[in-house]
Amino acid sequence: ETAIERDVVVVGAGPAGLMAARELVAAGRTVAVLEARDRVGGRTWSKTVDGAFLEIGGQWISPDQTELLALVEELGLGTYQRYREGGSVYLAPDGTRHTYTGSMFPAGESTIAEMERLVGILDGLVEQVGVAQPWAHPLARELDTISFHHWLRQQSADEAACDNIGIFVAGGMLTKPAHAFSALQAVLMAASAGSFSNLVDEDFILDRRVVGGMQSVSEAMAAALGEDVVFLDTPVRTIRWGGPEDTYAEHAPGTPVTVWSDRITVKAQDVVVAVPPNLYSRISFEPPLPRLQHQMHQHQSLGLVIKVHAVYETPFWRAKGLSGTGFGAHELCQEVYDNTNHEDPRGTLVGFVSDEKADAVFALDAEQRKRAILESLARYLGEEALEPVVYYESDFGSEEWTRGAYAASYDLGGLHRYGAHQATPVGPIRWACSDLAAEGYQHVDGALRQGRAAADAILRAGS
Ligand code: FAD
Repeated sequence: ETAIERDVVVVGAGPAGLMAARELVAAGRTVAVLEARDRVGGRTWSKTVDGAFLEIGGQWISPDQTELLALVEELGLGTYQRYREGGSVYLAPDGTRHTYTGSMFPAGESTIAEMERLVGILDGLVEQVGVAQPWAHPLARELDTISFHHWLRQQSADEAACDNIGIFVAGGMLTKPAHAFSALQAVLMAASAGSFSNLVDEDFILDRRVVGGMQSVSEAMAAALGEDVVFLDTPVRTIRWGGPEDTYAEHAPGTPVTVWSDRITVKAQDVVVAVPPNLYSRISFEPPLPRLQHQMHQHQSLGLVIKVHAVYETPFWRAKGLSGTGFGAHELCQEVYDNTNHEDPRGTLVGFVSDEKADAVFALDAEQRKRAILESLARYLGEEALEPVVYYESDFGSEEWTRGAYAASYDLGGLHRYGAHQATPVGPIRWACSDLAAEGYQHVDGALRQGRAAADAILRAGS
């Protein structure tokens, strides 16, 4: 076992941890980034499967994600737009298939009017509540003690409208059923994208991808950090940050903190824990974290979604005048998009199977599950969808160092109860991950903002 000394230890080499390290190194600090996996990038990951380049994790960038866009440019990486020419497909609750253009489903006149009204109410709430401290708003408790499912039904008697609006946040973003999180959590999700209207506009929220894949952003950041900064295959097990007499409020600045991992021990002044909150309890803290943190962390959990990749010799849907985009609140794959790679002659579809629907298909064997999912894609885009040349299911729920997708959210009532404390440092320990972000919450952009904020706080405290 090797023992080293650094100014700062960063736990986790996802976008948040690497951004923190990048800022600290640029300011002249010495840093060790300890990463459990054998790769950087965390929930962003590119892999070639049976000859097809696939983005297993996070990939899309929206125009408001300026932290990420600026970094991509700084690193000399390119971006390209998602294919969106032609008609989209809507599968109605009764199973009928409709093609449409524009951003509103052809759900029938009165349902469309109700959906527009609900979007208006949510846009208004986003404006009032804001993104920075949703827990501090006078409406916070009221909105946080009702599930998004029931809140929608308080606003509207149109079940289809409630379902269609519900899935944008539930299956679409938090990847939990709409009864499992609050209306306040939904408002935060929308606020993090600027407005509810932005969140439901796939041309906005799923605008661009990085040429070479989103993981290359993390790979380029790691490469720029130089030698002996990032240590892979190095899960952190224990963070000892004070003597037994220390309390987090009294931790004396300058007291060293020691971080134990499977391979190396690092002595430092500060720690940035850049892992999702559901994994904090994988680390032993000595002395233990304060009661409030212990409690708070038990109310933050990751959702569950299967990201399905199906590659075809050609993007057959384009020839039929279809964009590849499809929605159906009641479908197994509630969303499908053209996910063809930059300058790739083959066509790739990506579909998403979320929360309870994911539970149901995970109960099937792999062949049955594949069949059920491809049949769902075929209901949107035609029989050709049944025969992909490459098929792959992203399953972050099975990954030891993630355990779900896309990111963490609070259970009912948790956001207003704990949100104000989620970023509070404990002694020399700071927290940074997309799961705690305001702008870019749950997204790579939010992870980068969090990494930068943690680094800035360390630099401010030390100067
Ligand atoms: P992570 O990326 O999770 O990085 C944390 C790192 O910490 C990991 O590398 C992990 O291995 C490591 N770690 C954990 N525990 C330890 C330990 N004890 N010791 C050492 N290391 C540890 N975002 C978008 O912006 N656009 C998208 O299109 C999008 N789609 C997504 C699709 C999927 C399937 C998934 C899973 C995510 C998607 N996201 C998307 C979300 C985005 O990928 C995440 O928000 C982002 O990667 C979070 O970055 P992070 O650095 O906060 O955490």
